Amino acid sequence: MTDELNNICLLTNDVETTSIVNGGLRPETGIKVWKEGMPRLLDLYAKYEVKTTFFFIADFARDCPEIVKMIQPYGHEVACHGLTHNHKQAFDIMSLEDQIRHLVEAKKILEDIAGEEVVSFRAPALRVNEFTPQALVETGFKIDSSVAPQRMDMFMSLGSRKKLVWLKAPRMPYFVSETNLARKGSLPLLEVPVSSFAVPYIGTFMRIAPSINAFTRYLLYHETKNTKKPINFLIHPNELIEEDDLKLKTEKRAGNVVSHLLSDVLRRKLKQKNLGLSARDLYEKEISFWNRKNYHFVTMKDLLKNNVYYPKNHL
Ligand SMILES: [Zn+2]
Repeated sequence: MTDELNNICLLTNDVETTSIVNGGLRPETGIKVWKEGMPRLLDLYAKYEVKTTFFFIADFARDCPEIVKMIQPYGHEVACHGLTHNHKQAFDIMSLEDQIRHLVEAKKILEDIAGEEVVSFRAPALRVNEFTPQALVETGFKIDSSVAPQRMDMFMSLGSRKKLVWLKAPRMPYFVSETNLARKGSLPLLEVPVSSFAVPYIGTFMRIAPSINAFTRYLLYHETKNTKKPINFLIHPNELIEEDDLKLKTEKRAGNVVSHLLSDVLRRKLKQKNLGLSARDLYEKEISFWNRKNYHFVTMKDLLKNNVYYPKNHL
């Protein structure tokens, strides 16, 4: 890869034990993710000979180290999705000290399993606060991917008020400010935003609204073709599993009735669509589209290493 590289596609996978069917964290879901979801993703990536990035929840990886080791023969990047996906310990409600403690522990767990340095991070549910940039830099992370510029559906997700900063976030990768991952600045931490065009370019949206997603893809293609602006698609291996044994259960997480209806009930019902093999087939269409357009599939580390955009003194 050279400095002249255009047409870049990052496929990014968040590996966790979240059950999409009942909304909770379940060890049984984790086993299905390991035995079914991950092999389906790895087979797809092998078919198209692409390299991708896997963000692992570290407490899941500690219980199931094989899930990290299984990606390494393919050359995918091992990255960090935090220590836990428990929303009571989300990064946007943690102090600087707690964030640092979580990041140190998560990084160590993943590096001990992988035997390689882990430098890329994505916050669970993309929830971050003003301490997160400093916490990431102090713990040796070099890349973050927790911002979705101009994504407008944040009211459907947890921590939505803090995500309003996404509206003004840059669309190109950038080095972040000291107190805001969604703003440019001088910290040595590269933000690689999740692609969105009003709606996010992610597995969840691909499944619940395939035709809107195809239009988003079309817009993103025209925005990024023949430039260095990367595509960054986010998917989860738990979208590629079936949990027919579970009944729809809506966990009440939001504080009032309106946000309960919006963020819990509606969200949960929508998120059930096209799981399992349907998700895999829809996802293959995304990969084959970028493949046909001759996009280069790279990892987060590749992007940083090749210094496509940035001043050298940050590397
Ligand atoms: Zn997650």
